[in-house]
Amino acid sequence: MSTLRFKALEQTISRHPLEVQSPSKKTSDYFAINVFNKKRMQEYLSQEAFDSVMEAIDKGTKVDRKVSNQISSGMKAWAIDRGATHYTHWFHPLTGATAEKHDAFFEPASDASVIENFDGGKLVQQEPDASSLPSGGMRNTFEARGYTAWDPSSPAFVMGNTLCIPSVYVSFKGDSLDYKTPLLKSIEAVDKAAVDLCNYFDKNVTKVIVGLGCEQEYFLVDEALFSARPDLKLSDRTLMGHSAAKDQQLADHYFGYIPMRVASFMKEFEIEAYKLGIPIKTRHNEVAPNQYECAPVFEEVNLATDHNQLLMTVMKRVAKKHNFKVLFHEKPYKDVNGSGKHCNWSLITNTGVNLFSPGKTPKTNMLFLSFFVSVIKGVFEYQDLLRSSIVSIGNEHRLGAAEAPPSIMSVFLGEEMNKILDEIETRVSGKKMSPDEKTELKLDVGKIPEIMPDNTDRNRTSPFAFTGNRFEFRAVGASTNVASPMIALNTIVAKQLIEFKEEVEKLIEEGVKKDEAIFQVIKKFILASKNVRFDGNNYSEEWKKEAEKRGLTNVSDVLEALSASVSPSSKEIFAEMKVFTPRELDARLEIDMEKYTKKIQIESRVLGDLAVNHILPTVYRYQNTLIENVKGLKELFSETDFNKLAGTQLESIKEISDRSSVVNIRVNNMIDERRKANVIEEVDVKAREYADKVKPYLDEIRYQIDHLEMIVDDEIWPLPKYRELLFIR
Ligand code: ADP
Ligand code: MG
Repeated sequence: MSTLRFKALEQTISRHPLEVQSPSKKTSDYFAINVFNKKRMQEYLSQEAFDSVMEAIDKGTKVDRKVSNQISSGMKAWAIDRGATHYTHWFHPLTGATAEKHDAFFEPASDASVIENFDGGKLVQQEPDASSLPSGGMRNTFEARGYTAWDPSSPAFVMGNTLCIPSVYVSFKGDSLDYKTPLLKSIEAVDKAAVDLCNYFDKNVTKVIVGLGCEQEYFLVDEALFSARPDLKLSDRTLMGHSAAKDQQLADHYFGYIPMRVASFMKEFEIEAYKLGIPIKTRHNEVAPNQYECAPVFEEVNLATDHNQLLMTVMKRVAKKHNFKVLFHEKPYKDVNGSGKHCNWSLITNTGVNLFSPGKTPKTNMLFLSFFVSVIKGVFEYQDLLRSSIVSIGNEHRLGAAEAPPSIMSVFLGEEMNKILDEIETRVSGKKMSPDEKTELKLDVGKIPEIMPDNTDRNRTSPFAFTGNRFEFRAVGASTNVASPMIALNTIVAKQLIEFKEEVEKLIEEGVKKDEAIFQVIKKFILASKNVRFDGNNYSEEWKKEAEKRGLTNVSDVLEALSASVSPSSKEIFAEMKVFTPRELDARLEIDMEKYTKKIQIESRVLGDLAVNHILPTVYRYQNTLIENVKGLKELFSETDFNKLAGTQLESIKEISDRSSVVNIRVNNMIDERRKANVIEEVDVKAREYADKVKPYLDEIRYQIDHLEMIVDDEIWPLPKYRELLFIR
C-alpha cells in the first residue's frame, strides 16, 4: 500500500473516542456564559447605557458617542473577566466566511506602563483595511477603505481570548460589502410591511420579527484520511474516487446509531455552542454514511444567521480536537447524498402571533391567509430571484440532480392547505359569499391545526415547503451564508405584503367593506400564484414538462441562475425595498462569478496535478508488473497455453494504456482551455468559458481515473478510497 495511504489508515485505527466532560451538570448553568447578553449588560452597564442599547436593538436608533464610551467600558470589563485580551469586529464579508482582525486591549501609557483600553469609538466603528476582501470593484484603491460598524442587535461574545463584536461592513461611500447590511435592511422592509398589514387586524402589533431555524447538514471525515486527499484539502470535495460497494443503499445510516467518536465530537461542539448562546436542539445521522445534521431552536433571523456562521466555525475548531474534519461542501462525494441547510422561516408579531400559524379564531385566520398567500405569490413572481440567492458552484451538484433543490422553484402546501385555497378560489368566484359560507370557510380554516398532518416528511423533493407553521426553504446549500436566501425571501415577501395592502385599500376606496376586500385580495393572490403550487415529485420528468406548461422557469446552469439577481425586476424590487442599489447588485454578481471561476480553476489544477503526479505513475507501475508477468508466462509456456493464460493481463495492460492516454490528453486539453480563459478580462465571459470549456474535463478525467482505480492493485493506490473515507472507525 502506498506509504501515505497506509499511514493515514493506520492512524484512524488507533483513534479512541474522547470522553467529553460537561463544564457543569446542567446546560442552563453555562448557556450563553460567553455572551454579553441582556443579563450581563444589566450587570456591567449603567442604566443609561443599558437603555440606549435596548433602544438601538428595538428601534434601530443610533447610540450616541458619550453613551458608547460607557458601553465599551462595560463590555471591556465583562470581556476581561471572561479572559479576553483582544477584541475584534466580527463580520461577514462576501467570501462567505466570517472575518476578524484582532487588536489587543492593552496600550502603552505615557508613564511607560500599559493599560487596558477600549473606548466607545473602537466599539462603534473600525477600519480594518481589509483591502483584499472581495468588493466587486466597489472599492477602488484610491478609496480602499472599508468600515466595520457595530450591530447592537446581535450580542457581542467572547471566543477564545477575543471579544467579538458582530458588525456590518461597508465601503467609504456606504455601499454594503457584506451579508449583514442588506440582511438588516431586508428585515426592516419586511417588518414595516408586515406591521402595516397586521394593523388591519390588530392595532397592537408594532413589530414583526423574522424567525429562522437552520438545519445544518455536514459530513465528517477522519483528519488523517482527509490530509491524504489533496482534492478534499484544496477544493473541499473529492474529484475522483470509485463508489464504495456499500454506501447509502440500505438506508441504515439515516437516524441510526451515532458512532461513539462522532457522538463525543457532537457533545463537545454543542457545549461550546451553548456557551456562545447557540441553542442547538437536534442531532441525528443523515442519509449518506458519515453525514450528520444538527439544528438549533429557531431565533430572530439576524441572530440566527450570526449563530449559524459561528456554529460552523465552532464545529471546525472542535473537530480538530477529535481528529475530524467537517465538510460543509454541498457535494463532497459523488453518488451519495449532498448536504443542504434547510431554512425554516416565519414571521412573528410582538404580540406573540406566528403569522403562519392558522390560529383559532376566524379573524386570525384571515390574517394568516393574507400572509400565507402573499408568500406563495412572492415565490411565484420572483422565482428567478429566489433561485439566484441559493446557487453556487457547490450547490450546482445538487441543483437539478435528484436532491432537495430542483432547478424549478415550486411551493409545497400539503393536501389540506391546497384544499382550503381551492375552496376560497371557487367560492368567492363570481358572487359574494353568504355570511354562512364565510363563517363556514373561516371555521374550516380554524380546524387546520387539528387536521394538519406533519408535512415535514412528505415534501422531501420540494424546494420550498409549508410545514404547518412556517415555510422551509430547502434548496439552500450547506455552506451558504443564510443571509443570502433570507435577504431574498424577506424582500419579496415585503413587496407582496405592500401590494396586498394597496389592493385592499383600492377596494375599500371603491366602497367594498374591509373584510370583503381582504377576502377578494386573498382570492386574487391565490389565482395569480396558482401555477407555483406543486405537491408531486419534483424530481420527475413529468414535472419538468408540466412546469414548462405552467410557465415556470427551469434553470440548472449556475451562471444563468446567478444572473437573475441583476435582472430589471430584481434591481427594481431591491431598490424599491431599499435593500440593494443596482450598483451593489452588479458588484455582488461580479464577485459570485469570480468565485465560480476561481473554484473551477482550483479544482481543475488539483485534478490535473493528481492525475499526472499521483495516478498515472501508479498506474504505469502496475502496468509494468503485468508486463513482467506476461513476459514470464511467455518464457514458461507454449504459445497456445500462453494465449490462454495471459489474456486477462494483456487486456488490462491495454486498458491501462488506453485510459491513461485519455487522461493525459484530457489534462493537457484542460490546461490549454484554462490558458485561453485566463486571458479574458470580462468577468462574465471568463466564467462562461470556465463553465463550458474547462469544467467538462473534470468529469471526463474522473471517469477514466475511477475505472483505473478498479483495475490497479489496491496495495499501491495512492489515495484513500471512498470505502475508507466514508466510514468512521
Ligand atoms: P424537521 O427535520 O422535521 O424539519 P428539525 O427539528 O430538524 O425539523 O428542524 C426544524 C427547525 O425549524 C428547527 O430549527 C426549529 O426550531 C425550526 N422551527 C420550528 N418552528 C419554527 C417557526 N415557527 N419559525 C421558524 N423556524 C421554526
Ligand atoms: Mg426539515
